[in-house]
Amino acid sequence: MYFGSVRFFKHLILTVVALLIIVPTVLCIILLCDNNSKSAEIDRLNSIIASEEYKSDTTDTSSVTESSDNSDNGNTDNITSSETSATEETESVPTPEETESSVPETTTEEPETSVPETTTEEPETSAPETTTEEPETSAPETTTEEPETSVPEEQEDLTLLYDDMYVTPYTGEYINDDNTVYLTFDDGPSVLTENILMYLRQENVKATFFVVPEDTEYCRILLRKIADDGHTIGIHTASHDYEAIYSSPKAFLEDFYKAYSLVYEATGIKADIYRFAGGSINDYNEDTREDIIAEMSRRGFQYFDWNVDSNDWQGYNWTQLYNSVLEDSLELSTPVILFHDTGMRENTVLVIEDIIKALKNKGYQFGSLSQKTEPIQFG
Ligand SMILES: [Zn+2]
Repeated sequence: MYFGSVRFFKHLILTVVALLIIVPTVLCIILLCDNNSKSAEIDRLNSIIASEEYKSDTTDTSSVTESSDNSDNGNTDNITSSETSATEETESVPTPEETESSVPETTTEEPETSVPETTTEEPETSAPETTTEEPETSAPETTTEEPETSVPEEQEDLTLLYDDMYVTPYTGEYINDDNTVYLTFDDGPSVLTENILMYLRQENVKATFFVVPEDTEYCRILLRKIADDGHTIGIHTASHDYEAIYSSPKAFLEDFYKAYSLVYEATGIKADIYRFAGGSINDYNEDTREDIIAEMSRRGFQYFDWNVDSNDWQGYNWTQLYNSVLEDSLELSTPVILFHDTGMRENTVLVIEDIIKALKNKGYQFGSLSQKTEPIQFG
């Protein structure tokens, strides 16, 4: 009997052992092959995803670059949004392509492999691009904005104002004016001006008038008389309102332009010298003085102060004026004397002839100021 014999049991044991070894081996081989095909499929899908992400990265990066001008917060917002859109794409891309039962396995694996890839790629591509592009885009903007902000705004505005208020500055050597007296009359013209002109004409001397012109026919006539007699017309101010004209360089220019224009319309003269109301250094222009002078110099104008004050503005009588002016003038080789031909300054008219005669007797000649004259300036 074969069944139940020792030989039967020997064959039975061998068969069981064979089944235990061969079947798992075959199963392993089958699974291995299947696994290989799956991994090949995963690689293919990964490459597709990677190319898709590259496209989305470049478009996202350009949008980041465009918006990077605003702020760094904008960048982080865009980067995180590109990250979320990338993960959305990795999830959405494989689902339509994969229909096998193993799809859930690959999709669960993919986020693990592809997401890290996108995060490692992004810092390499998008983040450096934004940082390198930022200086290119934002830096020029700051430099173009700078002239508008850091450079004094008024300074910039001033150059745009009154483009017809420029004169040609004299750049040659000053004339030799030793023993020359410069008579200067501020605040006119006025009812006193014609008498002053008469005395100057009689003595055949030239003087300088720093005018405060008015928009009247009478003023225009007087301005023309001054010019016709060969005297110099310089600009003083239109308003003589210290607080207003020294409040800013722009305010000074505005006032100056009024006076400058009135003189030009009346006489055709482009006055190129001026005298500050109250002198170049006064209690009102401490903050604006330097900027005003710089702007006026840029426009070609020269300013003159004085070295002898007649004090006619203080109401000096004839004798006081005469003595004061002669005493101070005789100490100087080039006296620049301050008079006023306006208001209640009749004594100026009455004394001017005798002052001229006295200084002539001391060997002085008379001249009118111009840019060729070395300016007397305070400070
Ligand atoms: Zn004045």
